[in-house]
Amino acid sequence: MRRHRMIKIVATLGPSSSTYDMIRALFEAGADVFRLNMSHGTHDEMAQRHAIIRQVEADLGRPIGILADLQGPKLRIGTFSDGPVDLQVGQEFRLDLDKAPGDRQRVNLPHPEIFEVLEPGADLLVNDGKVRLKVNECGPDFAECTVTVGGVISDRKGVNVPDAVLPVAALSDKDRKDLEFACRLGVDWLALSFVQRPSDVLEARELAQGRAAILSKIEKPAAVKAFDEILAVSDGIMVARGDLGVELPVQNVPPIQKRLVRKARAAAKPVIVATQMLESMIESPMPTRAEVSDVATAIYEGADAVMLSAESAAGQFPIEAVTTMNNVAIEVESDPTYIDVIDASRKHVHHHSIADGIVSAARELAEKTNIAAICCFTESGTTASLVARERPHVPILALTPFVGVARRHALTWGVHCEQVTEVNRFKKAVINAVRVTRKYGFATEKDQILVTAGIPFNQPGTTNILRVAPCSEHLIIQGEPE
Ligand code: PGA
Ligand code: MN
Repeated sequence: MRRHRMIKIVATLGPSSSTYDMIRALFEAGADVFRLNMSHGTHDEMAQRHAIIRQVEADLGRPIGILADLQGPKLRIGTFSDGPVDLQVGQEFRLDLDKAPGDRQRVNLPHPEIFEVLEPGADLLVNDGKVRLKVNECGPDFAECTVTVGGVISDRKGVNVPDAVLPVAALSDKDRKDLEFACRLGVDWLALSFVQRPSDVLEARELAQGRAAILSKIEKPAAVKAFDEILAVSDGIMVARGDLGVELPVQNVPPIQKRLVRKARAAAKPVIVATQMLESMIESPMPTRAEVSDVATAIYEGADAVMLSAESAAGQFPIEAVTTMNNVAIEVESDPTYIDVIDASRKHVHHHSIADGIVSAARELAEKTNIAAICCFTESGTTASLVARERPHVPILALTPFVGVARRHALTWGVHCEQVTEVNRFKKAVINAVRVTRKYGFATEKDQILVTAGIPFNQPGTTNILRVAPCSEHLIIQGEPE
């Protein structure tokens, strides 16, 4: 099984997508990475979904990435006694520390630290900013508000306080427990919500101890400001447009998206564009034109991945949503304008290292001559990331002895990963590369491929060989000089 597109698809799992049949069908429709949202569901449910994904992986023989998304310091209201409440503009509404279920007049907001920094006049945004409250009067355990934008609120909806700098820790106790649990399960990526500063990322990295790569979700104005420093200490980025569009005016989101995608790409770190990509498909088997255009935009920008949230987790049409993304990607990526845009946005990299020079040469050679694929032997995955940064027009194969590296790179643009046995001779590496490219139909016996590797083997960061290899049987049978 192989994909016929370069951009990757992340699908969030949830009640609509937790059976073996559904997860397998989502993978077959095009999901490369599955997201476990730690904000919802129990550890038992996470463990079950994780086990099912690994079973699908074993049954289909393809590495699958798993991303555990930590809730982070997300503020949420409590619950209501009689279901959702419809708040009217102009009415009074109270938030307090009282744990009793809420009603039309009040609800619990179980965050004493918020009441400490609230001031009269502050705006509170509930349920993705759909409902707005203005604080009239507040104390250490309550806030009396007026509803300025009405709407329905229900159990445990999120609350944003854009005006205040919140004195909250990067990782709550729940996050620390979830992080350890996810690492023990063996997830490949940890996503950190509401990152505000580089030290937040370092803290998670310290706890993860290399067991999972760290992806920073950019959804706070502070994170946008400190983006370069956050990118430097992260392994990947998510443009988390949901909360970002609540914390900042929505019209600020598209330029931020463009800037973040470019910077992450230049740093050779995967970047996911997330939230509301196919929102209407939660309830409809067909997307809107605007949603299709939004997915297409992320692809034209050169993002590594596009993501589905409720569409695949709680919607009625998870498979249709993945299929839509897959189809849009195939169409956009075959558009000559796409190739122009991707080429024009390639940053000229000053070749700091031999590896940088080799991946750049590989792309040029592949595009100027008739090369079917670029194959890299990679122990740490770095070479694959560098080749992907070049956004070549030919498929990239990452061959690695480590299943963890293969799984992590399920998120990387254009990279088809394959776990291979450790090689100790370049000849064997070439034979392996030919075998894998032909097995998945990336090349036929008439084609030539490029093979990169570092000699001596088993020393990360030594990429120093670029070889053109014919894909003929001849090579596979007779081998070639060592
Ligand atoms: P969430 O993050 O779905 O965990 O809130 C994504 C976003 O805010 O866009
Ligand atoms: Mn968010």
